[in-house]
Amino acid sequence: MRSLFVDERRCIGCLACKESCPEGKIRIMDDEVREIIFPSTCGNDCTICEEACQEKAISLGDERPGAPEITLRFHLIPCEDCLRGFITEPMLERLKASIPRDLQIDSSGLSWLRLCPSCRRALERERMAASHLRR
Ligand code: SF4
Ligand code: SF4
Repeated sequence: MRSLFVDERRCIGCLACKESCPEGKIRIMDDEVREIIFPSTCGNDCTICEEACQEKAISLGDERPGAPEITLRFHLIPCEDCLRGFITEPMLERLKASIPRDLQIDSSGLSWLRLCPSCRRALERERMAASHLRR
């Protein structure tokens, strides 16, 4: 058995650890708030969650008997179109910072970042259909 340590100052709520855990041991509840529940200990002999975390927020160490689960909470920013919460503020900031400055400027500025993936795809489809009609 090993303990999971999660540094809440580093975690951005991206869920890469949850999505890569083969045992489904990291749970979430998504509503207006994203709640991520990390087990305090894990008996699996893997380091996948630690490696998946680009923020180096997870570390596996010696077992600490009786340690409680770790729950982190993030407010979810709503999509500007469908109004469903879809991204945490630190994730949005990371995303903004990762886009080269010249690519950040399109006809809608950075507003597309505030659309959830499915509304973004719908907007792209509309744009492509409109440009097809103009030809
Ligand atoms: S992968 Fe890292 S930053 Fe992302 S939710 Fe897990 S612990 Fe947090
Ligand atoms: S050590 Fe492996 S099984 Fe355990 S929580 Fe991390 S990814 Fe999941």
